[in-house]
Amino acid sequence: MQNLVVAIDGPSGSGKSSVSKEVARRLGAAYLDTGAMYRALTYACLEAGTDLHDSEAIITAVRAASVQIGTEPDAEQVTVNGADVSEAIRAPHVSEAVSSVAVILEVRAELVRRQQEIIAGHERIVAEGRDITTVVAPDAPARILLTAREEVRMARRGLQLGGTQSGEDLQRQVVARDAKDSTVTSFTTAADGVVTVDSSDLDFEQTVQAVLSVVEAADAPA
Ligand code: C5P
Repeated sequence: MQNLVVAIDGPSGSGKSSVSKEVARRLGAAYLDTGAMYRALTYACLEAGTDLHDSEAIITAVRAASVQIGTEPDAEQVTVNGADVSEAIRAPHVSEAVSSVAVILEVRAELVRRQQEIIAGHERIVAEGRDITTVVAPDAPARILLTAREEVRMARRGLQLGGTQSGEDLQRQVVARDAKDSTVTSFTTAADGVVTVDSSDLDFEQTVQAVLSVVEAADAPA
């Protein structure tokens, strides 16, 4: 019997991953980073030298890749064909390529199925991504859209990457990626029943608290 599913969507740089992980820790819940699954498949395609303009080639490469993902918020682990790629999938060249893989509907259908299986296998879980509130877990009791203004998101992503990226690089990794992702997922406005948390003017702890309040309100008897 499932006790708690928290679904969190948002654009890149919204703080989704770090906030979702901390919320999972505080709720004693598992944590599913669905973006890491798309990143892992993209990494597999890049390793195989797949032409990312050729959707058939991507589908073939994706079918050949075995991706495993852990659900422990304190030890996120992602493997591709048995190799630990937890760090490698965060590299800027993977961020820039991932939308080309994620826009392919066959890839999405397979990952959505696996994500639903993982969620169903946990009594308490926080799952985050781009289509969790709308497609993967539309019936989750707590559904949140975590947003932030564009300049805030670019600055956060820049900090995460240690100030190594130019403004143009960040533009590609944040704004251009969101634009491409938006062609297949809807994460810029909240769907019915989804609560928006705007973290632009909140610090990390305030954002975590804002998300926890939504979870508590969803849990409280009407
Ligand atoms: O969240 P993160 O930046 O790691 O996501 C990487 C990419 O994975 C996104 O840019 C998007 O292309 C894809 N993604 C998706 N649906 C999800 C999660 C991520 O299409 N639920």
